[in-house]
Amino acid sequence: SKTCTDVICPFCGTLCDDLIVTTDDEGKKILDVENACAIGAEKFLHSSDHSHRVTRPRKLQEDGSFKEITYDEAIEYTAQMLANAKKPSMYGWSSTNCESQSVGHEIAELCGALVDNTAAVCHGTTLVAVQNVGIPSCTLGEVKNRADRIIFWGCNPAHAHPRHMSRYSIFPRGYFTGKGQKQRKIIVVDPRPTDSASIADVHLQVEQGYDYELLQALRAAVRGQEISGDIVAGVPKEKVYEAAEMLKSGRFGVIFFGMGVTQSLGKDHNIDAAIMLTKDLNDYTKFSIIAMRGHYNVTGSGQVLGWQFGFPYSVDLSRGFARYNPGETGTIEVLKRKEIDAMFVLGSDPGAHFPMQCVKEISKLPSVAIDPHITPTTTICKVHVPVAFVGVEVGGNCYRMDNVPIEARKVVEPPEGMMTDEEFLKAVLKRVKELKAN
Ligand code: SF4
Repeated sequence: SKTCTDVICPFCGTLCDDLIVTTDDEGKKILDVENACAIGAEKFLHSSDHSHRVTRPRKLQEDGSFKEITYDEAIEYTAQMLANAKKPSMYGWSSTNCESQSVGHEIAELCGALVDNTAAVCHGTTLVAVQNVGIPSCTLGEVKNRADRIIFWGCNPAHAHPRHMSRYSIFPRGYFTGKGQKQRKIIVVDPRPTDSASIADVHLQVEQGYDYELLQALRAAVRGQEISGDIVAGVPKEKVYEAAEMLKSGRFGVIFFGMGVTQSLGKDHNIDAAIMLTKDLNDYTKFSIIAMRGHYNVTGSGQVLGWQFGFPYSVDLSRGFARYNPGETGTIEVLKRKEIDAMFVLGSDPGAHFPMQCVKEISKLPSVAIDPHITPTTTICKVHVPVAFVGVEVGGNCYRMDNVPIEARKVVEPPEGMMTDEEFLKAVLKRVKELKAN
């Protein structure tokens, strides 16, 4: 057998980079995965079992069945679809490498497409808030080595980012945090008594949808101002004062926040307030704030879109230049308004996450889904193109949730003849250029 060390896990935004993967001598089958959490290990072991995988592109037939087609036919269909559309949408990009994202954006520019990533239904509100008020942030390495005050607001890392707490935020012993968890105070803000809340020193059980009120109350308490009323957002005001003192008395603190606060009532205004709370706390101690990003390279998608077009998501290229107006140029909004005439999906599953009205609209459009798995999206798109797993069967650059780039490694061979995202996109780009030249 062969052993590959320092492997990154291509599942969640924690992007753990200490996995040890053992394969057979031919590098075809994964035998063992060390250090990963249950979700990460399953991704490696599941991908290496080819028995359940679709290994060639498939086209949806009128009777609802799929017929196998060649990669050349899939490339031709995709190129024709994108080149001939007036306003195609190219959505996803969060579960692939930056190299593929970059090629995809070149196709989008040539075809006047709308390019969007999964931030549209996740941390897009965070990106808007950062543009509003800036962001005092740091790396996860600094959290491990320095942070003694941690807030998890609207997120449940025990389930969604299982090794986040052991590698960076609660348990690890860092340079200035040698006593690990004993040296840290943890506050969880969540309407539910989650597993993350059960290990916190303080659980602020905020009333659903009242995060903005609680954030502003905490800001007032931090600044020594009076909170009117005995209860704010479902939390007794004494607990708010207690939390404020706990945060101010630390040497270095971090707020981690998730979709419980980005996608609840208030949206980007909640994050404005969370960032302003971070700034307020910097009058007393050192504080940072980091979004708990979900897909392993959604952060990279924002980075690559940023380099190429200046905006991190919902970029509309249909007028020949980049426009960005979330709420107007987001994929969900254009699908609801029936504005697009072709749908290309790579590295995400809108069939599982978009409103039903949008899923129905996708099912009516010429559409292509690029995904190693069979998903709700691949079952409604006209063409499904299976590809190699990034981070398992092909390497590439990815960005961790704290905007640190980490190189993913290839540990096994993909099924014979299977293309990678980047190879497929490069072939489509070549064909789109030919079609546009004619
Ligand atoms: Fe993978 Fe996330 Fe688990 Fe780390 S915490 S092993 S990145 S799924």
